[in-house]
Amino acid sequence: MKITLSNPIFNDEDAARAHFEKLRWPEGAVCPFCNSVGKSTEMKGATTRKGLWKCRECRKPFTATIGTLYERSHIPLHKWLLATHLMCSSKKGMSAHQLFRMLGFGSYRTAWFMAHRIREAMKPVNPSPLGGEGKTVEADETFVGGKEKNKHAKDRKHLGRGAVGKEAVFSLVERGGKVRSTHVKSVTSATLGAVMREQLNSETHLMTDDARQYIPLGKDYAAHDAVNLPLLR
Ligand SMILES: [Zn+2]
Repeated sequence: MKITLSNPIFNDEDAARAHFEKLRWPEGAVCPFCNSVGKSTEMKGATTRKGLWKCRECRKPFTATIGTLYERSHIPLHKWLLATHLMCSSKKGMSAHQLFRMLGFGSYRTAWFMAHRIREAMKPVNPSPLGGEGKTVEADETFVGGKEKNKHAKDRKHLGRGAVGKEAVFSLVERGGKVRSTHVKSVTSATLGAVMREQLNSETHLMTDDARQYIPLGKDYAAHDAVNLPLLR
């Protein structure tokens, strides 16, 4: 769905709430207390604040923003959605000052607070590194994707043998443990090393094939064997 800035969800609180509820609860309202799905009723009393739901199972009230970055904020949801949209659609990222100018409401302080919260929420959850003392992790790269000769000439890339027209996937496999795969743009010491520094404990016993990219990388780990890889081959 393409959303433009003139969309009512960015300036009408009811439209914003309806949009957010649909996004968060595609199967019907989910009670955050007992996890029932579609068993809640929207409360419609004259004095009831809008967007309040009550679970028919556990009888507790809740809103769609509970447990999200928008929870318990005095800033209306439509303004949060606008700020989030602006920050997510900006490729280069956005400063609080830019956000303040583009929002057209509130104070710089409010914009700063919103930018900070949105950035926090967008941060990837960093998984704990693989491997560690006494553990062995095998690292290997594979290429996935369609055969180059089956593509139209205009779609063909001219990158040399092996990698042509395919996507490189770098996998780390912990013996008797977890597997993690990352899409990499190219298979160089720099790209593979960046993934390993982020995802691999330096106390690990590293095993790779004898590709030259791994020679400088192996030095950062407790041990490095360049051999055949039984788990991946
Ligand atoms: Zn409930």
